[in-house]
Amino acid sequence: MRAPPPTPACPVCGAVDTRPLMCVDGRAYWSCPVCEARFLDPAQRPDPMTEAAQYRLHSNDPDDPRYRAFLGRLAGPLMARLAPGASGLDYGCGPGPALAEMLREAGHTVALYDPLFQPDPAPLSQTHDFVTCTETAEHFHAPADEFARLSRLVRPGGWLAVMTCFQTDDARFANWHYRKDSTHVVFYREATLRHVAARLGWSCEVPRKDVALMRRPAAAAP
Ligand SMILES: [Zn+2]
Ligand SMILES: [Zn+2]
Repeated sequence: MRAPPPTPACPVCGAVDTRPLMCVDGRAYWSCPVCEARFLDPAQRPDPMTEAAQYRLHSNDPDDPRYRAFLGRLAGPLMARLAPGASGLDYGCGPGPALAEMLREAGHTVALYDPLFQPDPAPLSQTHDFVTCTETAEHFHAPADEFARLSRLVRPGGWLAVMTCFQTDDARFANWHYRKDSTHVVFYREATLRHVAARLGWSCEVPRKDVALMRRPAAAAP
């Protein structure tokens, strides 16, 4: 008898008692009972060439009103919480930095980082009033490491604003458009992002579906 394939640990929280969720289109998905993440089997993650080709197809036109409205779901609640003239970082900005443009129009300063499109690592060596991560976290191959890195980029009292399509109903998972993008390898529930924030010791607000605003505690008074 052959040994069954190994059970992968949860890439978000590290739990080892993950469970098979389903196989669809030849891909195996797992679910985590601790943080409620769903994720593609790590052995089936796309290679960098496939990912790069797919990312160039993502529509990110800063002048597209529908795309701006889409990003406004995160930008609106975030900007309502920022002091005037805040400075931030758009992590995983992609080829067309539309969100940065919207935040700049509102008077904020925004640095860019994207491993493919804005690879200059300078903004990663400082802290920011806010860091945005939109339509990016579902592409993370090592989400635990990425969230740890993101948390170090936020100053005490600052914000980490995450937008990703929340996974809700396992019965609809197979036909879910978000799952069908082969570069989407990890799917978060609202509970998953709350779990991430809680592990960091941060607060987490969900002002609307698909948006989580995590806040690093202000530094304790000396
Ligand atoms: Zn987990
Ligand atoms: Zn995507």
